Amino acid sequence: MRSITTIDLQYAHRFYGFRGEAQYLHGHTGVLTIEVEDTVNDGVNMVFPCNEIKKTAWEVLKNFDHALILREDDPLLPAVLDVYEKQGIRNGAPNNTMKGYAFETELATAYPDCRLVVTKETMTVEGMIKIVYELLKDKLNIVKLTFTSGVNAASAEFPSRISVDRCPLCGIALNENGVCPKCGYRKNY
Ligand SMILES: [Zn+2]
Ligand SMILES: [Zn+2]
Repeated sequence: MRSITTIDLQYAHRFYGFRGEAQYLHGHTGVLTIEVEDTVNDGVNMVFPCNEIKKTAWEVLKNFDHALILREDDPLLPAVLDVYEKQGIRNGAPNNTMKGYAFETELATAYPDCRLVVTKETMTVEGMIKIVYELLKDKLNIVKLTFTSGVNAASAEFPSRISVDRCPLCGIALNENGVCPKCGYRKNY
């Protein structure tokens, strides 16, 4: 069965080199739907608590929220960084606290200090799905991702890859010692 959670992301981007209005900088509220598959955990009668899926995903994805997402070859990138530099906010600001960790994958690099994500490909809804899967595939057994942004939407399905040992009392993943990090439940081997 599947547990399904959604995450809102507000971001600015543009399609560099695209012939259409999307070549101009603009913003969206994007909605990401994450579907995680596993057996139903009998103890709690769920696959995985949705708030835990959200927490795990948000650690990484908050880098995209209230962020600027630009392709690596977009000339706006050095221009924006130059302004941030001159303004003294390129390497952080006191009110920039909602930062994820600075990830780097083949498809995207996050610069949380200046709320910027630099992508290899144009950040379309399809592009976002590729980026998100790469970031989360080893943390969650994702079998489907859907991303909608304005009138655009895309979805992709993925093979089930991992099964997670979960706490029968609160449903979250047990650590490598078979102990629940939340309630202290210990698995008997
Ligand atoms: Zn757009
Ligand atoms: Zn527990």
